[in-house]
Amino acid sequence: MKLYNIKDNSETINFAGAVRQGLGRGQGLFFPESLSPLPNVESLLELPLVPRSVAILRHLIGDEIPESTLAAMVEQAFTFPAPLVKVDDHTYALELFHGPTLAFKDFGGRFMAQCLATLSDDGKITILTATSGDTGAAVAHAFYGLPNIEVVILYPEGKISPLQEKLFTTLGGNIRTFAVQGDFDACQALVKQAFDDEELKAAVGLNSANSINISRLVAQVCYYFEAVAELPAEQRHKAVIAVPSGNFGNLTAGLIAKALGLPVKRFVAATNANDTVPRYLESGSWDPHATVATLSNAMDVSRPNNWPRVEELCRVKGWQLSDIASGALDDEQTKDALKRLFAQGYLCEPHGAIAWELLNKERGKDEIGIFLCTAHPAKFKESVDEILGQDIPLPGPLAKHGAMESLSEVIPADFAALKAKMMK
Ligand SMILES: *Cc1c(COP(=O)(O)O)cnc(C)c1O
Repeated sequence: MKLYNIKDNSETINFAGAVRQGLGRGQGLFFPESLSPLPNVESLLELPLVPRSVAILRHLIGDEIPESTLAAMVEQAFTFPAPLVKVDDHTYALELFHGPTLAFKDFGGRFMAQCLATLSDDGKITILTATSGDTGAAVAHAFYGLPNIEVVILYPEGKISPLQEKLFTTLGGNIRTFAVQGDFDACQALVKQAFDDEELKAAVGLNSANSINISRLVAQVCYYFEAVAELPAEQRHKAVIAVPSGNFGNLTAGLIAKALGLPVKRFVAATNANDTVPRYLESGSWDPHATVATLSNAMDVSRPNNWPRVEELCRVKGWQLSDIASGALDDEQTKDALKRLFAQGYLCEPHGAIAWELLNKERGKDEIGIFLCTAHPAKFKESVDEILGQDIPLPGPLAKHGAMESLSEVIPADFAALKAKMMK
């Protein structure tokens, strides 16, 4: 697989290099040079998740990774299903939360861990990542205990759910976590500064596990194929897919799936009050506001780091940005959507409920709607219980980590402070 830097097209790199390096010069994102359609989409849709995903990733990554190695990596990463659950006659939920940390980020995080373990030369690697919630847990669990890999996770102090936090701050071992006195954008800014610091980069073998890493994106492409594969054959060409979006990695993966020939009619980019993208698609002007805290806190991002890839994809495929539908809900509308969805018999959480509501607005009469459920409802137990007047049970992993002590340190949103901790 050949990739180029979106900011500086003269910088090119192979898949292994892009996985190890994360970002290119000038903090540019890497983008695949070729996204040719798969020749056999119809027959791929008849395969089970794992062999189909091996074929898709083989097509994307090429022969840089031997096929048997790739198959073993996918088998170890995708150890859980992505069921498509019928909500009504024309609406389905794609449940992406059946992995070990109960969020869709397990797909990308676990495949990235496999990639780094397979592709890295022998030096020490430090994964530095900022999380607005679920990335931290997915990355921590995917890398926990891997030799020669240290993980450093930054998250905004007090701005993610306590259970979410416990899921990654209680592991210890090769996982270090810092609660940053600032918002998620401040955490992302620290990560960017770290990658600009040559001394730190060389000293600790810096690598990012954010959704900017290409290995995470290619893994996520696979569950879009799974969604369409699980539809009855006569509905497969009618799908509109709504994606709850924060950094827009998930939507990027969906668009890549479409570029590879997956028959998706349209995507709906769904956000909370951090609505930079819906406003941009509406007005044409990019005008991020300050990030606000919402019920769907994994989407509290006002400067989405994957957006340049969405634009690049549209440019190379000749698609119009206006083909991407979008919308935003505030917290009151989110609560209302969650309640109505529950009344229809489907227990969801705020991120998925936003996607469902905006899907309903967008879906045409004879289209089939799929909304992505990015986290298990119990991950947002405090708000879900309160909004629905329920007491939803905690699944095993959450209950276990919830009872453990957090090992996090609090640091100011200051790069010098972070660097000092990391160089130790
Ligand atoms: C990360 C996350 C999102 C946003 O995904 P992006 O790829 O950053 O757009 C949505 N919902 C949940 C539950 C998440 O953890």
